[in-house]
Amino acid sequence: MNQRMYGLGSKCSVIREIFEYGKARAAQVGAENVYDFSLGNPSVPPPQAVEDAIAQLLQGGDMTALHGYTSAPGDLEVREAIAAHIRKTFSFPADAAHLYMTCGAAASLTVSLSAVCNAGEEVLTFAPYFTEYKVFAETAGARLTALPSDPASFLPDLAALEAALSPKTAAVLLNSPNNPSGVVYGEETVKRLAALLAEKEKEFGRPIYLISDEPYRELVYGGVQVPYLPAYYNDTLVCYSYSKSLSLPGERIGYIFVSPRARDAEALYLAVCGAGRALGYVCAPSLFQKVVARCQGMTGDVSVYEQNRNTLLAALTSYGFACVPPDGAFYLFVRSPEADANAFCERAKQYDLLLVPGDDFGCAGYVRIAYCVSPERIARSLPAFEKLAKSYGL
Ligand code: PLP
Repeated sequence: MNQRMYGLGSKCSVIREIFEYGKARAAQVGAENVYDFSLGNPSVPPPQAVEDAIAQLLQGGDMTALHGYTSAPGDLEVREAIAAHIRKTFSFPADAAHLYMTCGAAASLTVSLSAVCNAGEEVLTFAPYFTEYKVFAETAGARLTALPSDPASFLPDLAALEAALSPKTAAVLLNSPNNPSGVVYGEETVKRLAALLAEKEKEFGRPIYLISDEPYRELVYGGVQVPYLPAYYNDTLVCYSYSKSLSLPGERIGYIFVSPRARDAEALYLAVCGAGRALGYVCAPSLFQKVVARCQGMTGDVSVYEQNRNTLLAALTSYGFACVPPDGAFYLFVRSPEADANAFCERAKQYDLLLVPGDDFGCAGYVRIAYCVSPERIARSLPAFEKLAKSYGL
């Protein structure tokens, strides 16, 4: 068998391990007494429009077509609906011929990385970063290098990027709003990053692709804007997912948008189609392609996450924990009061608080708290957080 695949299959992710522990613990002490903040599974239901679209699609019509294969890159009408949404929302030229429907952001990323990387090339990203990036980059034959972020803001360290870019750099992978920091990269940062990449493309005489991983685009608070990267940098691929915005993670639906302004955009799109083919990601789930086409621009009730963020941030800060206030996603990335975040998570377990150490996100000394749970659960967890803080003398 393939030893790399065996290694990946036999080693469960830390997040999953904690999640499984939480289930076992809930069986012992009751689910209401376990505060599981491990998993980024949306807690708000999909908007009613999703259920209505499913019901309408299942009522009458041609069921064979509904459940049948779509064209490999996705149903044309679906891609046209998404292209229209992109044009309207971002005033950016988009058409169906540059969209490829996929199974969520994970497939979008694996396909995009495989489309742009050649064996031995490098993908750069910034820590903290989504734990699966390394696996996805290596599947594409590339190597992932994580660069530091500014610890005061968790914004990308652009000096580190400048030093790391080389003729071997195939892609820079950005995730904003960020998992796990919740930080949103503002326009100033994006402009500087785009200028740097454009300069290096010229210097090296090769494209450096910007891959924008944005499943949390609509999960932002306090009116914060998330810049649309294709508007700032031509060689961009957007990896979008409806997992978080429409609360559909189990339905595996999203898309890749290849900027028509990318150099050799048509060839790049064909490379995406080729990678989708090679990896077996053709014909994304047909029913849910059609559902999302009818729900463009909609989200679940994001205000619940905002309420959770405000409650948790205020409480944890008052107990003495330190954290960069997040503007988006549904995570707090809290500094561990002791150097070893794993030890901190073990102590938190004594209070039935299940947190994830930052080590796997490339950032030791921090923990991630996924606050996509009910506001009642947040409220009930606060005394446990307070006791945890006191146990450190905070
Ligand atoms: N990228 C980031 C930053 C994520 O947080 C996640 C999931 O949590 C993914 C990608 C994968 O998303 P999907 O479930 O749409 O495959």
